[in-house]
Amino acid sequence: MPERIQPEQLAAYERVTDDASDGPWEATGDDHGSDGIEYGVWSPRSVQNGEYIAELITSEQPEADSVFIATARTAMPKLIAEVKEIHATACSLAEQIRRVREQHPREENASGPVCGGCVNAYEEPSAWPCPTIRALDGGEPGA
Ligand SMILES: [Zn+2]
Repeated sequence: MPERIQPEQLAAYERVTDDASDGPWEATGDDHGSDGIEYGVWSPRSVQNGEYIAELITSEQPEADSVFIATARTAMPKLIAEVKEIHATACSLAEQIRRVREQHPREENASGPVCGGCVNAYEEPSAWPCPTIRALDGGEPGA
């Protein structure tokens, strides 16, 4: 599993994304004949000024790298927003699961471990783990 992005790192990614020139950026190659092909990345404003955002002259893969740079300008804000949304959803779900688990505590009685939150068809405490806890733990509730 890859290392998780920490909030400080995400904030740093957001800052550099916000500070960069407005997008979308476009990657282009200019063929200079025997002098080779020059790859560049343009923004809407840099095109007006006739200047590149980035000019790739030393890269081993100038075409692929210029496309990557241009794509990053559009992708980074979307990925940052998606990561924030997924994180908020995960935190919300974790809190909901915590509250459900609180309602189904493991307790001990004469017959062994039981759920302190629910009963079976005979109005007796459900055997541990109860269907709710089994479902939360990834098992089949009725198994
Ligand atoms: Zn239960």
